[in-house]
Amino acid sequence: MAPRVAICGIHIESSTFTPHMTTAADFTVLRADDLLQRYPWITHSPIPGAEHAEAVGEDLSIPLVREWSEAVEWVPVLHCGALPGGPVEPTAYSAWREEIVDGLREAGHLDGILFDIHGAMSVPGVDDAEGDLIRAIREVVGPEVMVSASMDLHGNVSRALFENCDLLTCYRMAPHEDAWICRERAARNLCELLISDSPKPHKALVHVPVLLPGEMTSTRIEPAKSLYGRIPEVEQRQGILDAAIWIGFAWADEPRNKAAIVVTGTDAHAVEEAALELGREFWKVHSDFVFVAPTDSYPSALDAAIASDKRPFLLSDSGDNPGAGGADDVTVTLAELLGRPEIQDGPVTALLASIVDPAAVAACAEVGVNGHVDIEVGGHLDSREPGPQRVVGVVENLVDDPRGGLTAVVRSGGLTVIVTTKRNQYTTNEQFHRLGMDPRDFDVVTVKIGYLEPDIFDLAADWILTLTPGGVDQDLVRLGHRRIDRPMYPFDPDMADPQLIIVTG
Ligand SMILES: [Zn+2]
Repeated sequence: MAPRVAICGIHIESSTFTPHMTTAADFTVLRADDLLQRYPWITHSPIPGAEHAEAVGEDLSIPLVREWSEAVEWVPVLHCGALPGGPVEPTAYSAWREEIVDGLREAGHLDGILFDIHGAMSVPGVDDAEGDLIRAIREVVGPEVMVSASMDLHGNVSRALFENCDLLTCYRMAPHEDAWICRERAARNLCELLISDSPKPHKALVHVPVLLPGEMTSTRIEPAKSLYGRIPEVEQRQGILDAAIWIGFAWADEPRNKAAIVVTGTDAHAVEEAALELGREFWKVHSDFVFVAPTDSYPSALDAAIASDKRPFLLSDSGDNPGAGGADDVTVTLAELLGRPEIQDGPVTALLASIVDPAAVAACAEVGVNGHVDIEVGGHLDSREPGPQRVVGVVENLVDDPRGGLTAVVRSGGLTVIVTTKRNQYTTNEQFHRLGMDPRDFDVVTVKIGYLEPDIFDLAADWILTLTPGGVDQDLVRLGHRRIDRPMYPFDPDMADPQLIIVTG
């Protein structure tokens, strides 16, 4: 009989330093056949980002019909995924946890579970949310079922998560161009072990006392590039199945938030040795991580952008990056753009993408395209200074966006502001084209983002990562973590070299 593999998981990254609360409505929820359709190996499709396979040590020639996937019976249970945001409403989390547990109980005999998660979900009142979820899952499926977790490298590996999963892997690229390669690897390793009736692999976990923002740990630059570049070689070794390095999630305050290494394989000694080796390698470079681009305060960066002849000049509003959990309505950058005469009345054109404010969008919809508006924008979710900003201008476009809901393009002097109904992030050319605009037509483009996603990176003639305040402030030490393990770099910059400890299973 074919091995039966259930699929379940909740995928979100939650900043606990933002006032935003993620509700059930923020999630895309997939069940039954819709859930199966999510996975390219089930639909016989190529994986998105397949061109990066070689860079992360994977085979480029993945057939459309994967034998390992055909040889198992997939059992869809539940998958919920949302844009990063604030903590998840406890009622939403408990309802889904119950649905997953019930679904697994009713699924009958199971051999495996693909646990499709991010790894940085926060739920008020629940420490280590993914650990809580996997413990609840184990209670119903028992210890024998083989569980394979696919995670974001910005997730956290707690002891509970490690102990209750048999295979754990994460992305090897930031930006996460290999997200689907990673999910496929997690599924394939699981299925191949089940099909060959192999015993559970050995596994080893090494935590590294480092907690850094993603903007300092992009795998496009050193030292993360070489650190992650070690993985394919380690994975090639005899007795090693998978090696994974987690940066961890910096914008939450729990003891589990830190970097981690997990190696799995058939040779216990090789697995432990590789985990320790990668852990030591990580620690060796811990103080070499730097921001992925030049950094500055927003006002000073805007001065530089206005004065530059590089067009478009990109400024990332990193402290309010909704892609990491920011509220998406902090007005620090909007206020500065509105206050610049060079932009309001002068020769410089600027674009701000984007800011969430459903009431402002409704006011734009009321007057329609080409209508004049006098509205207050932003500063409602995250009320930090300078708060709502008055924007007087013309509505240039109104478009229904699949992610941002009804979206208004408002121009005030030389400044164009994209205002959305739902939190959204502009990462692709297509999103701008949908609004009838090209970011290349502007002199200065401000995006609520940290490191630039590929399309935006390609269009930027120059770029400064601005260290703005917000729920995902890049200056971690000023956020005031209280519950993370100490000592921890960079919170204790002069800490002694740690004794790295191996946990096995
Ligand atoms: Zn991530």
